[in-house]
Amino acid sequence: MTTSAGAVRAPAASRDWNALIRDVSEGRWIDPDTGKPAIVPFKTIRIEDKLSGAEGDLVHSVLPAERYAVVADENTYDVMGAAVAAALGGRAEVVVLKHPHADEAEIRSLREKTRHVDALVAVGSGTINDLCKYVTAGDGRSYCVFGTAPSMNGYTSTTASITLDSGLKTTQPAHAAKGVFLDIGVSAEAPQYLIAAGFGDSLCRPTAQVDWLFSHRLLATRYGTAPYVLQVEDEADMLARSADLGVRDHEAIGVLHRILTLGGLGISVVGMSHPGSMGEHQISHWIDSFAGERHPGTVHGQQVGVASVTMARLQEMILASPNAPQIRATQFDEAAIRSRYPAAAVEDCLTASRRKAMDAAAAARFNATLERIWPELRAELQAVAMPSATLAAHLRAAGGGASAEEIGMDRALYRDAVRYSKEMRDRYSMLDLAADMGILEDFIAEEC
Ligand SMILES: [Zn+2]
Repeated sequence: MTTSAGAVRAPAASRDWNALIRDVSEGRWIDPDTGKPAIVPFKTIRIEDKLSGAEGDLVHSVLPAERYAVVADENTYDVMGAAVAAALGGRAEVVVLKHPHADEAEIRSLREKTRHVDALVAVGSGTINDLCKYVTAGDGRSYCVFGTAPSMNGYTSTTASITLDSGLKTTQPAHAAKGVFLDIGVSAEAPQYLIAAGFGDSLCRPTAQVDWLFSHRLLATRYGTAPYVLQVEDEADMLARSADLGVRDHEAIGVLHRILTLGGLGISVVGMSHPGSMGEHQISHWIDSFAGERHPGTVHGQQVGVASVTMARLQEMILASPNAPQIRATQFDEAAIRSRYPAAAVEDCLTASRRKAMDAAAAARFNATLERIWPELRAELQAVAMPSATLAAHLRAAGGGASAEEIGMDRALYRDAVRYSKEMRDRYSMLDLAADMGILEDFIAEEC
């Protein structure tokens, strides 16, 4: 047999959107920190140009069941939910939630509405996914998800953002979806602010890495490089396409889904959320927890994008100095915390603040370490950082906002979030460092 090699060129194969992702989910990717295959709970992830026609097979392959509930909201039902339900035929019933919130009341209601089915099929993005994830984790059932927007990295996360009856927004342990199905064509039709939000959520990579690595060097917080090794190539690809996201370019949306997926997997690989959640996420969480009436209705990723620009600016200012930062003992005002937060949150904030507060002796040790390692640490952190102006330019190119004003948020609220968000979590970020250095107020006045 002879072949006519070279005579006819095969059409360019469509891009394999699941390269690397499949290696991780199937246990073939070697974790650079351990030298062993990484283990993640997500076994089936499919990012495809389109999924229509395959919905039924996908669900049956990962979630064999007699009775399903397809859970959507009014928008996502039209976009994809109806097709998924039709593909499952008589085995599926449809639950369409009206303007759902991921809160405890909605969870009780969804559990009641779906108690007689075996498994849930979520069709939506942040809220629908969190609701189905949390409900099924709580009662031992399983779920899979068809994502309808590239708006956050929660499809490949095992936690759910849930607002408690007390009004507190919390991150709750849940479980992995049995299947994560992402249709790029559907996602490209999502509202532009949701696309920009997903992009904003992914831009926390440099600021979280700087904060986490700083905490590792100074306070011996466990650290890993695996999450960043996973993202490095796609991050460059995504940043090069930020303006394409602004016009919903199909390929750019695919790359965004990859980076969000890999970001979620990186958290599973190291077993802690630090690689993608430090000072910038604290600012966003504080807004969602405590803004109350002042909350403008912005979503997580929009807030994280803006907060990433703020954190990058703070970090570059601190890293600009060849002289090591010097801190004083943490100023810890219990009465102020008690007066600032609702009763349900006060003890958590006090505990988090006490855990990382440094007295004079601890501050002196911290200063001595900083003095000793600053030249190398500074270079190490600068090497993984990204200029705040670059982050802002990319956000705007993608159709998002890069400041509180640009996402319609009251400036005073945003400043409060930058000022106080360190009180709600015991992770030491450069917000804590700036406060302990005595420069946080000036920074807020000049930069926020
Ligand atoms: Zn996030």
